[in-house]
Amino acid sequence: MSDGRLLVVGQGLAGSCLSWELWNRNVDFHWVDRGTGGSSRVAAGMINPITGKNFEPSWRIADFLPEALEFYTRIEACLGKRFWYPLPVLRLARSEKEWGKILGKLSEPAVAPWVVGETDVTKEWVGGVIVKGGGRLDVPAFINASREFFREKGRYHEEEVVFDSIGRGRVWCEGAAGLMSGRYGMHRCAKGEILTIRANGWDETQARVGGGGWLLPVGNGIFKTGATYEWNELNDLPTSEGRAKVEEIARRLGGDDFEVIGHEAGVRPILRRSQPLIGPVGNDWMINGLGSKGSLYAPGMARRLAGWMMDGIEPEEEVDLRVFLKQNL
Ligand SMILES: Cc1cc2nc3c(=O)[nH]c(=O)nc-3n(C[C@H](O)[C@H](O)[C@H](O)COP(=O)(O)OP(=O)(O)OC[C@H]3O[C@@H](n4cnc5c(N)ncnc54)[C@H](O)[C@@H]3O)c2cc1C
Repeated sequence: MSDGRLLVVGQGLAGSCLSWELWNRNVDFHWVDRGTGGSSRVAAGMINPITGKNFEPSWRIADFLPEALEFYTRIEACLGKRFWYPLPVLRLARSEKEWGKILGKLSEPAVAPWVVGETDVTKEWVGGVIVKGGGRLDVPAFINASREFFREKGRYHEEEVVFDSIGRGRVWCEGAAGLMSGRYGMHRCAKGEILTIRANGWDETQARVGGGGWLLPVGNGIFKTGATYEWNELNDLPTSEGRAKVEEIARRLGGDDFEVIGHEAGVRPILRRSQPLIGPVGNDWMINGLGSKGSLYAPGMARRLAGWMMDGIEPEEEVDLRVFLKQNL
């Protein structure tokens, strides 16, 4: 379909946030997805300000988190639906070495504002701290409600668009499918598997992160837990090995008494860790590379891209695809 209007290709977090930005600027656009679903369909939606083995602040968290929360609150008000659920995160350490590293970071200026303090832990863990400011975006609810809103406005329909180099004012928001085409150079996409479990009586007041995994309450005794990382088999097929690994994470973080009620897999779109990129592709545009943190970065990246496309306001060099390609191709 090519009627001269801007065409947003892909209805994951990137395409959804961009469509709202265009809508709010009264841009005449339409929006398509091939309907097979991408990694947003399986994302747990957790935002955890301080992450990883090294207990590091997420890249530019202080800029992107307020922007994301303002964006989701605005869309919630517009649609009369709730998508964002704030939750403290209990970060657990399994070894003295890991705990030492966490303790050493607590007073760092980039870390301290996100930490409530140390907390008591059960004997399987060496120590734990409570991290504030995070929570859960109900990603499927957000992208489904966005799609229905724009479908009703006559802006959205299902269609597969084939990439070619003749630019027509399209914005490619295809997630891992776009990166795996090789068109932005080497990618580092990673498959992830995730379980939905029922566990009555487990603590639902906080997310738990530790021992290489996480456990996220989603209400009524249901939890999401994950996730695996796999770089070779890049598909969305759940595996028995993946399930076994995630069940082990659930046991470690929650206990033995749970029932698996869902098992999904997806491919995280990664170009360079979890730092996304935006920019021109010929006469088209792209937004991709949201990595493991699409809920955090999609709103801010969509705003920057809309500002660039519509008003010519170039973003910071570190998110500019042109700069990345110059350094990496
Ligand atoms: C197991 C797992 C757990 C995760 N957990 C979290 C989490 O807790 N928190 C978090 O923030 N992030 C999480 N993520 C990461 C998150 O899923 C991604 O960052 C985000 O969803 C990427 O969004 P996207 O819009 O770029 O891509 P996608 O969601 O993949 O969307 C791309 C869309 O483009 C469509 N498409 C592709 N090609 C075409 C074409 N040619 N024509 C038409 N349509 C096309 C696809 O159908 C798809 O709907 C997780 C990911 C995985 C795999």
